Amino acid sequence: MRQETKCIQAGYNPKNGEPRMIPIIQSTTFKYDSSEHMGKLFALEDTGYFYTRLQNPTNDMVAAKIADLEGGTAAMLTSSGQAASFFSVFNLAGNGDHVVASTALYGGTFNLFDVTMRRMGVDFTFVDPDCTCEEFNAAFKPNTKLVFAETLSNPSLVVLDIEKFAKTAHEHGVPLIVDNTFATPINCRPFEWGADIVIHSTTKYMDGHDAGVGGVVVDSGNFDWMAHKEKFSGLCSPDESYHGIIYAETFGKEGAYITKATTQLMRDLGAIQAPQNAFYLNLGLESLALRVQRHCANALAVAEFLEKHPKVAWVNYPGLESNKYHERAKKYLPDGSSGVVSFGLKEGRAGAEKFMGKLEVAMIATHVADAHTCVLHPANSTHKQLNDEDLLAAGVTPDLIRFSVGIENIDDIIEDLKQALEAV
Ligand SMILES: *Cc1c(COP(=O)(O)O)cnc(C)c1O
Repeated sequence: MRQETKCIQAGYNPKNGEPRMIPIIQSTTFKYDSSEHMGKLFALEDTGYFYTRLQNPTNDMVAAKIADLEGGTAAMLTSSGQAASFFSVFNLAGNGDHVVASTALYGGTFNLFDVTMRRMGVDFTFVDPDCTCEEFNAAFKPNTKLVFAETLSNPSLVVLDIEKFAKTAHEHGVPLIVDNTFATPINCRPFEWGADIVIHSTTKYMDGHDAGVGGVVVDSGNFDWMAHKEKFSGLCSPDESYHGIIYAETFGKEGAYITKATTQLMRDLGAIQAPQNAFYLNLGLESLALRVQRHCANALAVAEFLEKHPKVAWVNYPGLESNKYHERAKKYLPDGSSGVVSFGLKEGRAGAEKFMGKLEVAMIATHVADAHTCVLHPANSTHKQLNDEDLLAAGVTPDLIRFSVGIENIDDIIEDLKQALEAV
């Protein structure tokens, strides 16, 4: 099946007389005829549901659809994108371990790593995604467990050289985790370029309608944990909290990572997505391919309009020929990047506030990447916790306006921009 068809059909295949839409299994528990059978489930000797904190059928159908869209072998829904980022890293790196991460990250991810996970004893080295091979190699330590980066960074729109990142990570015997939220599997499938694990904030394009906060972790099934046994003891040696199971042996390359994340992290930390939200997410996924196409067409028109406007100082959109990442975008994002355009006004930070106050179609919202056109001034909101140096390292200048182009009629969006720019 192609992506458009997978959006509609993957993950759930109703049998004769069964509902065509995925059922919402709104149940915390599942009934069994014997405690012996139940025991087998707890020992991971048989598969089945027993408690929704660990697994739920509705969630699994939606996770299977996303795994299929990304070309992966297994996936797990989480309660938010933040939980997905945290689980994806914590599943491999704990107290005393080290992670190499790109500087071009979503503000919430940067804070999770640089503040909260440091408090848990995980060390991070941040590298410029466009650094030289020498600088990149120098970031690794003997206790490095993974590399983390974003396909298309939020909000700086840096297009990641996924092949370079994957190759370098693999040379150091560790996997590459990619946050593919902005690109979506419609525009880029990082596994095809060597990434090993993908995460998403499904809150953005996948849900697409401001309906539910959620996340997903997807495994490509390609990373050979057993080949790096000493680094990944959590996957390659007995888990005493789970009857001495060795995940990489019992579940192989295809299943070890997600099984461990489910049985350990979901069991102990419990950031499961509500089945009701998984149902909404699935509704969003059904139209993902169609919406992403429209988002990209509208965003390119907005970027071209802004680029020609005399009051606009600069425009950042990988689809523009003038863009620093245009060539790389043609390779990794040939069908379009996303609906997000960032720009600055000649009047700078003050101009941004005036301009935003006049917008009528575009709403001011701490959100991005959904059907509604919305606008945000990151230096004053999402990235407010960063100092000026970290702000610049994340690619966010104080005048940056993040404009998330929705799927409304493009003429209404452009007319709105025109009238708001007159006030500047
Ligand atoms: C929003 C976002 C997140 C965090 O996701 P939540 O669902 O808000 O927890 C992570 N990564 C990127 C790129 C995002 O845009």
